[in-house]
Amino acid sequence: MPEKKKGFSTRAIHDGQSADPLTGAVNVPIYASSTYVQEEIGKHKGYEYSRVSNPTRTALEENFASLESGTSAHVFASGMAAITALCTMMQSGDHIVCSDNMYGGTTRLFNQILVRYGLEFSYVDTSNAENVDRAIRPTTKLVHIETPTNPMMALTDIRAVADICHRHGVELSVDNTFMSPYFQRPIELGADLVMHSTTKFLNGHSDGLGGVLVGTTPQHAETFAFVQKCTGGILSPFECWLLLRGVKTLAVRMRQHDANGRKVAEWLQQHSKVNKVFYPGLPDHPQHQLAKRQMSGFGSMISFDLGSLDAANRMLKKVCICSLAESLGGVETLISHPATMTHAAIGEEGRRKLGITDGLVRISVGIEDVEDILADLEDALAAV
Ligand SMILES: *Cc1c(COP(=O)(O)O)cnc(C)c1O
Repeated sequence: MPEKKKGFSTRAIHDGQSADPLTGAVNVPIYASSTYVQEEIGKHKGYEYSRVSNPTRTALEENFASLESGTSAHVFASGMAAITALCTMMQSGDHIVCSDNMYGGTTRLFNQILVRYGLEFSYVDTSNAENVDRAIRPTTKLVHIETPTNPMMALTDIRAVADICHRHGVELSVDNTFMSPYFQRPIELGADLVMHSTTKFLNGHSDGLGGVLVGTTPQHAETFAFVQKCTGGILSPFECWLLLRGVKTLAVRMRQHDANGRKVAEWLQQHSKVNKVFYPGLPDHPQHQLAKRQMSGFGSMISFDLGSLDAANRMLKKVCICSLAESLGGVETLISHPATMTHAAIGEEGRRKLGITDGLVRISVGIEDVEDILADLEDALAAV
């Protein structure tokens, strides 16, 4: 009989992390070693040089593969380093189809660096799976999506897009940063690859950057290990340890993020100064049914429209518990203004196409006492 798969929290705390064989330490040590002694030529304990592999990193990679239901995971120095590694699977002339509303850094990497190496990109609204089908060409090698999107919180049906990809012999990768594997596991819905900026919910404490690629085939494992070794953009043992520590509380953090997120979204929706709220957990979100089907929670990323730049500015000057900052997914509530911060680079026309208005505010609801978050928002909205 196959061994029954253990629960998510148990795997988050234990997978990849057996007690240290030398001392019994319950936590995987930070192996701060660049190299490893060899007993004789060709005889070693599996580690030779830390760009290639490091025991703290191995523990983390086994843990992530388990949490995302993949067969391998490889961690990199940042989310962008992970996406860059993903794209080294491509060759000049290959074509990639992706969401038209992706993380700005991803679009910048594609349009300003990778196009110079002969890769071609098509940007489509993947919230309608038909658009993906139409965009696939004979040279298409990969479809890369983000769901929900930042900051409009539009969803893509992972299973529908995976079916389309596989009919065409194309692989699907999903940037799962916004939901974390606790609420959404793309591989279980048919995706071939999952990518994260671990900087966000997986780390959860806003104290380190990182990225991961989770694969499902022996070829993924081989390719990404080779890329780590050849390009060197690996995650340091210290950051790996921070992530091992962070991920142990992922389940309890995500449950609290979700509970707070739902309350804040509902509260914002009934507030007279708020024009519109974008959150997949609200029954009037156009893809609420899909959200319930492919996610087991709605998370804590919310955007809302205050009608004008002036209104947003007045509010953001007043917040106190909510910190005005880019990034997301930490225990503390972060609030930001997409038009002038994360989405300044795409220009007015780009923002108009995606529906990002000057009055739009994005909030990553933390796990503080929700009454305090609401009181802070109430005070700040009074200035509008
Ligand atoms: C932050 C982020 C990235 C980039 O990750 P870094 O760790 O900042 O390099 C990629 N995708 C999404 C959805 C993100 O939020």
